[in-house]
Amino acid sequence: MVTALLLSCTRHVLDFALPPRCSACGVIVADVHSFCADCWTSVEFLGAGGCKTCGLPLHATDADTCAVCLAKPPRIARTRSALAYSDISRSLAIRLKYGRKVAIAKTMARYMAPLVPTDGDRLLVPVPLHRSRLWWRGFNQSALIAAELSKRLGVVADALVLTRTRRTPPLKGMSALQRRKAVAGAFRVRDPSLLRGKTIVLVDDVLTTGSTAEACARALRKAGAARIELVSWARVVKPSLLMR
Ligand SMILES: [Zn+2]
Ligand SMILES: [Zn+2]
Repeated sequence: MVTALLLSCTRHVLDFALPPRCSACGVIVADVHSFCADCWTSVEFLGAGGCKTCGLPLHATDADTCAVCLAKPPRIARTRSALAYSDISRSLAIRLKYGRKVAIAKTMARYMAPLVPTDGDRLLVPVPLHRSRLWWRGFNQSALIAAELSKRLGVVADALVLTRTRRTPPLKGMSALQRRKAVAGAFRVRDPSLLRGKTIVLVDDVLTTGSTAEACARALRKAGAARIELVSWARVVKPSLLMR
């Protein structure tokens, strides 16, 4: 017990004594939870710009909403992602998912926090894992990110509000319709009274087509949430949309 305590203290002290390292490549940097100059130039920050609703880049237009969102306003009223999906953003997501690296969740939260408005009655809700996967992995990577975001923003995070009631197959390679069907009805709100009148900010690590988030949003709206937003670490964006 005493040894364990000493070890944990030593680790704590070491964390502070060791110089901060680039979150992507590991070289020593000046700032904790940041990137070195080389990695910084190769990541594509998506930030707060783009379509006011879906967050995808808008080019050569003075419109603030893209044609897709205008034609059919999505259930998620505001989607923002820190980075485009790339080698670097993927490597952080994988290291978090398989290593429970709290330092990585802190890095992600650092870049995601500026994208979350803190006015009004907001609640951070991580996209849940099915309990079998949670049991196998031991933690939900999105819940770790939500907890770090909560610390930074002073907005409550609740990982128990939403549950995944059945296992869903990997969505890779499926058409949009197949994906929608695969996740339809897979999420349930435990206690709707916690959501009433609130803006729910779904927190996810990687956003691909959005069908999982969409299914979460449907369950949250049905349970009485006033508005659904989403913030993710990385987002798969068509390369043509990133060209400048
Ligand atoms: Zn680096
Ligand atoms: Zn849009």
